[in-house]
Amino acid sequence: MQIIADALEHGLQVLVLLPEITLTPQLEQRFRRRFGVPIVSFHSKLNDSQRQQAWLSMQQGRAAIMLGTRSALFTPMPRPGLIILDEEHDSSFKQQEGFRFSARDVAIARAKMLNIPVLLGTATPSLESLFNVDRKRYRLLPLSARAGNAIEPVFQLLDIRNKAMHAGLSEPLIGLIRATLEQGHQVLLFLNRRGFAPVLICHGCGWVSRCIRCDANMVIHVGERRLRCHHCGFEQNLISQCPACSTGELQTLGLGTERIEHTLAELFPDKHLIRLDKDTTQRKGSLESYLEQIHSGHADIILGTQMLAKGHHFPDVTLVAILDIDSGLFSVDFHAGEKLAQMIVQVAGRAGRAEKPGRVVLQTRQPQHPLLTTLINQGYQAYAEIALRERKQAGLPPFSHQALFRVHAENAQAPQQFLQAACDVIRLFDDGKTQILGPVPAPMTRRAGQFRFQLLLQSRDRKNLHRLLDSVLPSIAELKDAKKVRWSLDVDPVDLY
Ligand SMILES: [Zn+2]
Ligand SMILES: [Zn+2]
Repeated sequence: MQIIADALEHGLQVLVLLPEITLTPQLEQRFRRRFGVPIVSFHSKLNDSQRQQAWLSMQQGRAAIMLGTRSALFTPMPRPGLIILDEEHDSSFKQQEGFRFSARDVAIARAKMLNIPVLLGTATPSLESLFNVDRKRYRLLPLSARAGNAIEPVFQLLDIRNKAMHAGLSEPLIGLIRATLEQGHQVLLFLNRRGFAPVLICHGCGWVSRCIRCDANMVIHVGERRLRCHHCGFEQNLISQCPACSTGELQTLGLGTERIEHTLAELFPDKHLIRLDKDTTQRKGSLESYLEQIHSGHADIILGTQMLAKGHHFPDVTLVAILDIDSGLFSVDFHAGEKLAQMIVQVAGRAGRAEKPGRVVLQTRQPQHPLLTTLINQGYQAYAEIALRERKQAGLPPFSHQALFRVHAENAQAPQQFLQAACDVIRLFDDGKTQILGPVPAPMTRRAGQFRFQLLLQSRDRKNLHRLLDSVLPSIAELKDAKKVRWSLDVDPVDLY
């Protein structure tokens, strides 16, 4: 805020980028209270004329501050002074469709072109940014005091091996929840899976509720009595009879937030519970109304998905529990560890204030896992140093650079033929400095009726990789198989799905 004030004093304009639309109204209020200058917002929830007005007032120099999501990055400014990117680690700064770009990297390039400072803010820096600090490309500005003199929360790994579980809640955790509620404090429970349960299975014949268009299960939504695919949106009514054997008993496997909500309602019938996920916040204004109930102290238990991990502060929460972290420890994507560590720290950061220190409980069957023990005992910085060393040993980004060809079509052959032909072109132009990995099926091979394959290029030399891409792309676009598929190229992919 002080850096912004300084830019404003010099009559300059400031662009502030945020990962989430839901955060802009809160921040806009804070900015308006603090700065007596014209402020505009720019994001996809505004209509075209609102966006046009915001864009014009920035472009004509009337507005001094623009708050926006990644698309705001391209707004022209006659008196540019500063670009700020808040929560720089957040993967929503990467646009994954159409014109693929990283708003973080473009912000840095734009600031350089304008010859103005760019500030990346975060409590959990991405490994790339820490790497750039190491290389003296970025300057690290550590904040030595926590906001509002808050005390660091106490972390606790709760070993749930062999413990009795009540739908995802261990008995020791239930005891902690009860004790916290008795003190009149709020409890926050985090589970990154919505719906009631991710699998419906027949106890008689083993039939499973698969999506007809994806390699994925249909998720059970009990409240709406629907089965829903979270990948393509396909849905159908919740069935009570097995479609395969018609006699077996249908059972649910796994846990979603809706199921935990049921369990909590049984365990704590007189407590007010709020569930925050994509399903409960569809209606316009519903998220704001829930947040208001939480801040006014009306809510006792807050249960939700990653929506909770972003930006919101709940000062009356003194117990945070992350119900399932084990699945994040065993992903096929090398980014998963970093994302899990960031998620844990971000969720933990929602809780507590000076007068009400927070406790953060992580339920796990892997209490000795080095990611967890390092993060909990030594903090995010220590975790990040180890993770960067591992990336270096494995030759993974940021110690190398990747480009991912993603291809899909209605049949399984065309993408493979196209990628094989593309591979041949790449080999012709490559001087042996690029690793060519694939073609392989995407981790979820079939999605929304499309068969998906990919080819990963990896090189230690970014210039060399881009030279290679520049020389092969025209030939690849001309391949005869290119007409039979949809394909895209993603440079610096943030996930490999
Ligand atoms: Zn059956
Ligand atoms: Zn589907």
